[in-house]
Amino acid sequence: MSRADISTYFACDVFNDEVMRTRLPKQIYKALTNTKKMGVPLDPAYADVVANAIKDWAIERGATHYTHWFQPMTGSTAEKHDSFIQPTDNGMVIMYFSGKALVKGEPDASSFPSGGIRQTCSARGYTIWDPTSPIFVKEGTLYIPTAFVSYTGETLDKKTPLLLSMDVLSDQAIRVLKLFGNTTVTKVTSTVGPEQEYFLIDKKMYDQREDLIMTGRTLFGAAPPKGQELDDQYYANLKPRIAAYMAELDETLWKLGIYANTKHNEVAPAQHELAPIFNNSNISTDQNSLTMEVMKKIALKHDLVCLLHEKPFAGVNGSGKHNNWSLSTDTGQNLLDPGSTPSENMQFLTFLCAVLKGVDEYASLLRISAASAGNDHRLGAHEAPPAIISIYMGEELQGVLDALETGGTYKSESEEFSIGVHALPDFPKDSTDRNRTSPFAFTGNRFEFRMVGSSDNIACPNHLLNTIVAGELCEIADALEGVLTKDFDTKLKELLRNIIKNHKRIIFNGNGYSKEWVEEAKRRGLPIYKTTVDAVPHYADEKNVALLEKFGIFSRSQIESRIDILLERYSKTVNIESLTMIDMAKKKFIPAALKYCKELCDGIAVKSGFGIDASIERSLAEKITNLNSEAYKLVQELEKNTADAAACENMLEMATAYRDNVVSTMEKLRKCVDSIEVMMPSEQWPVPAYSDMIFNV
Ligand code: ADP
Ligand code: MG
Repeated sequence: MSRADISTYFACDVFNDEVMRTRLPKQIYKALTNTKKMGVPLDPAYADVVANAIKDWAIERGATHYTHWFQPMTGSTAEKHDSFIQPTDNGMVIMYFSGKALVKGEPDASSFPSGGIRQTCSARGYTIWDPTSPIFVKEGTLYIPTAFVSYTGETLDKKTPLLLSMDVLSDQAIRVLKLFGNTTVTKVTSTVGPEQEYFLIDKKMYDQREDLIMTGRTLFGAAPPKGQELDDQYYANLKPRIAAYMAELDETLWKLGIYANTKHNEVAPAQHELAPIFNNSNISTDQNSLTMEVMKKIALKHDLVCLLHEKPFAGVNGSGKHNNWSLSTDTGQNLLDPGSTPSENMQFLTFLCAVLKGVDEYASLLRISAASAGNDHRLGAHEAPPAIISIYMGEELQGVLDALETGGTYKSESEEFSIGVHALPDFPKDSTDRNRTSPFAFTGNRFEFRMVGSSDNIACPNHLLNTIVAGELCEIADALEGVLTKDFDTKLKELLRNIIKNHKRIIFNGNGYSKEWVEEAKRRGLPIYKTTVDAVPHYADEKNVALLEKFGIFSRSQIESRIDILLERYSKTVNIESLTMIDMAKKKFIPAALKYCKELCDGIAVKSGFGIDASIERSLAEKITNLNSEAYKLVQELEKNTADAAACENMLEMATAYRDNVVSTMEKLRKCVDSIEVMMPSEQWPVPAYSDMIFNV
């Protein structure tokens, strides 16, 4: 069998549809399929049969254990493995897996962040099977995707709000579709295709860098003579070692039922991208978490390390996760596809306007969904979208929206279109160079949210996006339900016209990286939250709370707890970075500079004895000594500022202190040490240089 025929082994490690069909009684198979596709709860009476079939299959695939796999607020996934063994009377075991164990788990929740929601005394948390996401076997364990909630039913994870948001979005989208006479659709699903960027570096280099090990990014490092200025890395031919890594990664992902599809070198040296074919947002989210884990593990097998940090190296592009998002009906229609018939056009424009209004009104939520200490280094830097939310519509669509707003006609190259009566022209999928600078770009039949960080769990951006759009669709349905058929067209156009008028400030089709845009955005009154600390408190803005409460996604107290979790995470991240810098400066860089200076001084002494000119040594020794004293002073300043920040009692004060006093001192210390690095002999520099790391694989 050729490995080239992926269809022969795709999803072989997944309890997939074919396995389900052959191993379950017909009636139960049907019920489970209904649960998977439509979210209808599974009859508890079936759970034992399903569990047993899953166990038998899993054992055949080499599993001895099972785990309830969940996504707590730590940012990574969590798993605790239990074996299938059950003791028998004669001191032996049988392999057993009950329906109860499949459906519900009770991990100790006390060590997962809850932002104060779950008091430590009531440590109990539940993991509940999410049958809409596939079960799979990996490394001898059966993985059951689950939602994680507290004893009192409060959300403790990232999956639960996503599942809730998908339901509310479906309900509201169906209401709007009905307005257009579409009554056959029973389910609307948000779809996501996350493009994952990453860096690969040699493991030997990585092992020598405490900063990479502790924080995932380099905290020191002078710029190499060559960066990405030649653009010779983007789409470049794959080096054999990288190609071998990507091939093994693809195969592993395919076995896990992940549609790994596109792979290429990215703009920065040592940077690459992997994009899967889109799936429903819940499955995409689970699979993206799994993908990130597999990416790291496979790298180690190739003596490489996969860096998922948003900004592992200063001065070259950071990594993001372009979150391609759309809406799809169970009848197979993409609701953000402009379509080719007039009725579809107005429906499309209605959904488009819902997104337009939502992104404007809830820009802060979207900004928060991409906020982290790591992403702060990326947003606004090299090639990354700026920290301002705006929408790119593209020329054609902008023309259509303008015509709709003014009641005029839209002229494409060859024809004139009166909006809503004639078919819209086909919109060409925009080319990358036209819109790369937009954080939220319409790309032909979907939106691409580019602000999301490479290490982020995409549950958060997607549940917020889903809820925001659900909120707008709900308002549209409220306004138009009950309107007489003869008035519908007029009323709809009036509604859309108002949306465009009131929210077009969020549209920006120009260069998002320009200074002028920042000024323009200020004039338009768009929120500019440069850092995580600026953005996160806005989670609790009245309109945000109202929206999330209205659809039962979060209560006010849950939002407040999430603010605390995000700010605490920010503070902890910066704290670790600062301590790592202090450690490296004290134990590596300052002593290395002292040693070299001593050598120089010894040389000066010897030369002077012979009356030989030692001006080079003298000049170097002086410069390095000055910089080294500066570094020494900055280390002390950093120690003090870090201790002061850590002593703050209030989360927001603490995070603010880290940002204002710690991050800024870290930057100064880095600059100082980097200036020493460029004056030292490379063999005396205690860690691998940038050029060793990013040009070496
Ligand atoms: P580009 O680099 O031009 O943005 P890629 O092919 O790298 O394009 O990535 C596009 C991503 O968008 C893929 O993951 C693709 O599956 C996804 N995508 C395409 N259509 C949709 C859709 N309707 N909903 C969600 N994602 C989509
Ligand atoms: Mg893209």
